[in-house]
Order: sequence, then structure tokens, then C-alpha cells
Amino acid sequence: MPHDVLVAGETLIDFVPERAGSLEEVPGFERRPGGAPANVAVAIARLEDPPLFWTRVGDDPFGRYLERTLVDHGLPDQFLERDPAAKTTLAFVTHDETGEREFTFYRDGTADTRLEPGRVDDATLSDCEWVHAGGVTLSSGSAREATLDLLERAAAADCTVSFDPNLRSELWPDEGAFASVVGDALAYVDVCLATGTELAALGFDGDSPTAIARAAVERGPVHTAVVTRGAAGAVAVASADAPWPAATVEHPGFAVETVDTTGAGDAFVAGAVAALRDGDDLEAAVTVANAVGARATTAAGGMTALPTRAEVAALLEAE
Ligand code: ADP
Repeated sequence: MPHDVLVAGETLIDFVPERAGSLEEVPGFERRPGGAPANVAVAIARLEDPPLFWTRVGDDPFGRYLERTLVDHGLPDQFLERDPAAKTTLAFVTHDETGEREFTFYRDGTADTRLEPGRVDDATLSDCEWVHAGGVTLSSGSAREATLDLLERAAAADCTVSFDPNLRSELWPDEGAFASVVGDALAYVDVCLATGTELAALGFDGDSPTAIARAAVERGPVHTAVVTRGAAGAVAVASADAPWPAATVEHPGFAVETVDTTGAGDAFVAGAVAALRDGDDLEAAVTVANAVGARATTAAGGMTALPTRAEVAALLEAE
């Protein structure tokens, strides 16, 4: 089976709390497979042919559980690495009564920080049309160099490179470090999908989400910037350098019965990648992405309520 897309980055266990409250107060947590790139890869596999997924888990029960989950979702095991000398990353999630989430990571020297440059070979990249990565593996360890190396070689191989900065402030010494390292990565990126807060942290200023997106494409080489806005949908700007027509689009999102927004942004990314690869223009792609993102909020967990193409089509028809 051809794998036209490669997704790279962390997979980890999210421990989600049984109720609102601080880590000190909440007694119970449920184990869920997570990690933004893993969510993206699984969401793409639901929409179209499964992508390749490059990740690294520990040789421990959590790592084996994640590996099995990813394979059960159709991802090939070719680039699922098991690290005999490190544990799998854990993240404890807490939220307040409004649903505002915080993360506490157990990620010191864990397997996904130990991805090494070169594991995905140039021959694989030259067969890929699209490569997607995120900011978490840029935060520490050899994974930083591994991610930068992958993005650089993907750009050199003429892949379309998409990127989600995924700012988790707990993983960075300060915002300056995030802006500097992610700024280096953006030198290889064509399509940046982010929240307005993330783009502001990267130094893209503007008095509206559209102005922020415009600032991102003006700096280049990013030619397409998409700003997600939670329940309010998303805006996007593509410059004349994009392979799809230059455009500025806004979509108000889809009203759904939201249960849990974990992974909504990752599902959105998957929808955008699948649609743009399919030849959709930016407006159509943002509409599909919003539909996939909205659908993902209708059940608990980042890999649970992911729609197929047919389900997306039905949601669009009902619009
Ligand atoms: P992240 O999950 O990265 O924080 P957002 O909260 O902006 O990003 O959500 C990403 C996308 O998911 C939004 O652009 C929208 O398409 C969809 N989405 C998120 N929350 C909701 C919601 N409550 N209702 C409908 N769609 C949502």
C-alpha cells in the first residue's frame, strides 16, 4: 500500500481526570492513548489510507498498549520504535469547572524525547507527498534534532510540510526558547496550523486571527497559515506561493454537542491535510477540517469520535 503521508512525533498516555480539580485533589484518572501527532495519524487513517507514523515508545506496558492501539487503528508498524532503555511518556490532565485544561508531564528522558535523526530514510521521504510534525518533539532531547532533520529533508525532497506548534508551556523553559526553536523549524514549513495564542508566541502579530495568519505567511516560507478558534471555527490565509489558489477564508465552525475537546485541533489538522491533498481549495479544506474537528469533540478522548469521509460528507450536507 502506498503511504503518501508521513506523520512524526510523540505518542503518550493521557491520564484524564474523573472530575474537575487540581492534581492534588482528583483521586481517579483514566488511561487514554494520546500525543498530538498520534491523534493526527489516527484521524488521517480514519479519513483515507493510513499514513506512516514515526514515533518511539518505551519497552513497557504503556508503550505496548500504545503500539497496539496505533496498529489497531490501521497504522503500519514500520516506524513505530520501541526503546529498551527508556519509559513511555505520561501526561496527567486536569481541568477546572470551565474545562480549561492543564498538563503535568512525566517526560524526563522518556522514549519520545530520544527519537534520533535519520531513522526515516530519504527514499521513504521521496515517496511521500506530505509530512506533518509538531512542536512537542522539538522541546528536548535528541528528538529536537531528529525533528528538525526530518523537516529539513522532507522540504528538500519536495514534500509538502505541515506543522502544528502545539505549545505546551510545561515542556519549555520559557516562551523565548519555544519561539526560537520552533522558529528554526518554520524555515522548512509550508502549512502552519495553530491557535492564535501559539502564533502570537512565535511573534506573529495582528489585531485579528486573519491578520495573525497573514503575518505568518508574509514572513514565509510558510505559504498557508490556518488559525483554529475552538467552537468559533477557523480562519486561513494562503499566499501566491501556495500550490492551491491564494485565498483568505473564514469558517464559523459547526455546532455540535461537545463532550470533550481533547484532540479537536489534531482532528482538524487531519481534515485539512486530507482535503488539501485531495485537491480541495483552501475554503473547502477549512470547511472539512472544521467538520472533522467538531465531530472529534462529540465523545471523550482524542481518538474516539473521528469521522470517516462519508460521515464528514453527511455533516457538510446537513450544514
Ligand atoms: P486545539 O484543540 O489545538 O486547542 P481549537 O480549540 O482551536 O484547537 O480547536 C480546533 C478545531 O476543532 C476548531 O477550529 C474547530 O474546528 C474544532 N472545535 C474545537 N472545539 C469545538 C467545539 N466546541 N465545537 C465545534 N468545533 C470545535
